[in-house]
Amino acid sequence: MNKVATDVLIVGGGPAGMSAAVAASASEGVRVTVVDDNPRLGGQIWRAELGKIKSAGVRELVASLDKEKITIVNNASVFALDVGSLLAEAPSGKIQIEYKKLILATGARERFLPFPGWTLPNVFGAAGLQAMVKGGLTVEDKRVVVAGTGPLLLIVAGYLATKGARIRAICEQTSNRKLDRFALGLWRTPSKIAQGISLRGKLRGVPYYRNSWVSAARGTSELRGVTITRFGKTADIECDMLACGFHLVPNIELAQLLGCVILDGYVAVDDFQESSLPNVYCAGEPTGIGGVDAALVEGKIAGLAATEQWDRARDLFSARKKTRAFAHTLDQAFELRDELKTLAANSTIVCRCEDVQYGKLTEYHDFRMAKLQTRCGMGACQGRICGSAVEFLFGWNDRSVRPPIFPVRMENL
Ligand SMILES: Cc1cc2nc3c(=O)[nH]c(=O)nc-3n(C[C@H](O)[C@H](O)[C@H](O)COP(=O)(O)OP(=O)(O)OC[C@H]3O[C@@H](n4cnc5c(N)ncnc54)[C@H](O)[C@@H]3O)c2cc1C
Repeated sequence: MNKVATDVLIVGGGPAGMSAAVAASASEGVRVTVVDDNPRLGGQIWRAELGKIKSAGVRELVASLDKEKITIVNNASVFALDVGSLLAEAPSGKIQIEYKKLILATGARERFLPFPGWTLPNVFGAAGLQAMVKGGLTVEDKRVVVAGTGPLLLIVAGYLATKGARIRAICEQTSNRKLDRFALGLWRTPSKIAQGISLRGKLRGVPYYRNSWVSAARGTSELRGVTITRFGKTADIECDMLACGFHLVPNIELAQLLGCVILDGYVAVDDFQESSLPNVYCAGEPTGIGGVDAALVEGKIAGLAATEQWDRARDLFSARKKTRAFAHTLDQAFELRDELKTLAANSTIVCRCEDVQYGKLTEYHDFRMAKLQTRCGMGACQGRICGSAVEFLFGWNDRSVRPPIFPVRMENL
């Protein structure tokens, strides 16, 4: 087993983690370590394309990652932790990292909701498909429907279009009223307006259906098309791929393992991004789904606070206030509608790891009993996918978390 000792340990190498690392490493004599399960830094938004991003801010961030002062441990999944020490699994084996201060910047994942046909080949998570294309999958000339909810749908559709996909439609479940209110509120964040205009250009001619969702994916051995519901009517669209995601769910498992207070599904933090546990900070999506700007500013505050650069951290409070307001607007605008609870048939699989159908789950009143009797949420993903689905479908939010939070090799347990 490899052992590493550090002063400030950051879990997650996305925008929040990178920004925290740069801020913390500005403090003289502090050893900073970033551990991330991807081959490179960049998190969900930048991934392998980090080096190609043209934005001056991102280039500056990358240039400031002083490799001499920051130890970067890639390809390592943190699967267990305690106060002062954690365990990660890497291809080379197990790594134990001892730390004085911890910053959790573990990001978020997509929310999936079950509907008939959602497990067919060529049905992807929306951001998941984008990530696969960033990793080399080709979508050239593929007919793609993008569906679900949240601003990521437009980002994903725009990205796929630039890679040669033929976007047949974008189906956004939220209502006209909520979307209009969201759009009107964007004047506070001009960068988002600019992004919206640029996306509009990339998606010229693509139908953007509001109040609309995929009620079934059709096909036998693979996807042939989707049925969408709009204003109470259904319509069929032929396509080769469906990219479907329902906004994001924060990765809070490590914070839960430590015993940090969780409020409304997010890690509770104070002004300095410190959690309810002393010396444990949290930044980015686990404290609220607010996008890249929120992740960057929260990461910076956490890095500064963890190294006692209090005044510099305080200077960023007003910038964070804006990003928090944006996160709140996102939650309201893309709240899931009740009709989505009625899509799954009794035979629709909810837990893919353990093949548990919706009809089986309706026999139980809480997640614990459903788990014990059906193994829902006990498979390889440990409820990361079905957990948020059953929370929405049945109101079960009693997910317990135990180490290892990811499947690990026997010799590393
Ligand atoms: C699949 C996906 C794709 C997205 N694509 C875009 C996009 O194209 N454009 C956009 O504006 N926004 C995108 N987002 C939203 C984006 O994630 C946020 O806007 C923001 O960038 C989040 O930054 P973060 O640092 O909080 O988290 P992330 O960028 O998610 O970074 C967290 C990092 O922590 C790692 N990690 C988590 N748990 C562990 C662990 N236990 N051990 C080791 N490493 C761990 C993750 O793998 C990840 O690299 C995407 C989100 C998702 C889920």
